[in-house]
Amino acid sequence: MKHRNQVFDNVLDLVGNTPLVKLNKIASKFKGNFFAKVESFNPGHSSKDRIALYIIEQAEKKGILSPGDTIIETTSGNTGFSIAMVSIIKGYDCVLAVSSKSSADKIDMLKTMGAKVYVCPAHVSADDPRSYYQVAKRLHEEIKGSVYINQYFNELNIDAHYKSTGPEIWNQTEGKITHLVACSGTGGTISGTAKYLKEQNPDIKVIGVDAFGSVIKKYHETREFDEKEIYPYRIEGLGKNLIPTATDFDMIDEFVKVTDEESAHMARAVAKSEGLFVGYTSGAAMQAIKQLGEEGRFKKDDNVVVIFPDHGSRYMSKVYSDKWMNDQGFFDSINEAAAQNIQY
Ligand code: PMP
Repeated sequence: MKHRNQVFDNVLDLVGNTPLVKLNKIASKFKGNFFAKVESFNPGHSSKDRIALYIIEQAEKKGILSPGDTIIETTSGNTGFSIAMVSIIKGYDCVLAVSSKSSADKIDMLKTMGAKVYVCPAHVSADDPRSYYQVAKRLHEEIKGSVYINQYFNELNIDAHYKSTGPEIWNQTEGKITHLVACSGTGGTISGTAKYLKEQNPDIKVIGVDAFGSVIKKYHETREFDEKEIYPYRIEGLGKNLIPTATDFDMIDEFVKVTDEESAHMARAVAKSEGLFVGYTSGAAMQAIKQLGEEGRFKKDDNVVVIFPDHGSRYMSKVYSDKWMNDQGFFDSINEAAAQNIQY
């Protein structure tokens, strides 16, 4: 366990070992104890630091990467930031193909961290040459000596969480965790964490959080890709229009779908009630707990761990902007925005 009162060689030594914080108010009307794994305590402010560092170090161990080489990735922002951070310390060039759905502040942050950023249209299919997948693939072919992280299809993504997030949660709860609730984007976080936890105790229930407009939940239930499930939604980093191989569906007991609107309000409620300034998907994960709690799914002695993947500061022009909320129709009027500023 690393201690905050020691001197570190560089920021990368601070990746992982994030705190587990008891949620005292937001879920108090439900039976059970609720704890958040607050991933914004990573130096890059998200869970993606874990996979960036792990995958890059695995490539170094295999002799694939040497200083000056280029690392390429498709990213909704967080993974890009983490790869850029690791690249700075280790001396790599970082090239990122990002979705136009990503917030402007995220893109500016990536540039600040020295990354070369290609912004690609969000609502085209994955095999369209303009999609961020195809752009990244093309760049990988063009840039000699480049490594493509490919987080949706890289099983090292699962390993990173199997080796870090899973053991941390097991130790922090002293083996008493009964439920894990986590968003599924690439699926790496939930699959790797769940794999470790279920090896310790197969009775632990693992609940994935998916967006309306994503195929993941339906695929989990039917093992069939249903195009009709796909339509645009606003939450970044959650759900997908394809089936990632970085998701081990056998590790997940069930999925819960959440709306853009309820997740946005819930992210705000987490900040106001717990003092934890979290990102949009943390609101989504908490919204899933609310839905499960309302169905009476938790018992008095349950210990429910929810993963909060990133920090709220990345969403100032979105979820935490009253104007944005109003523009989405999430407030009936700007006056209602003011009314939302209540104590929970
Ligand atoms: N929340 C945010 C903000 C993310 O960027 C991501 C990653 N796309 C996730 C949740 C989901 O994590 P994972 O990719 O490990 O499923």
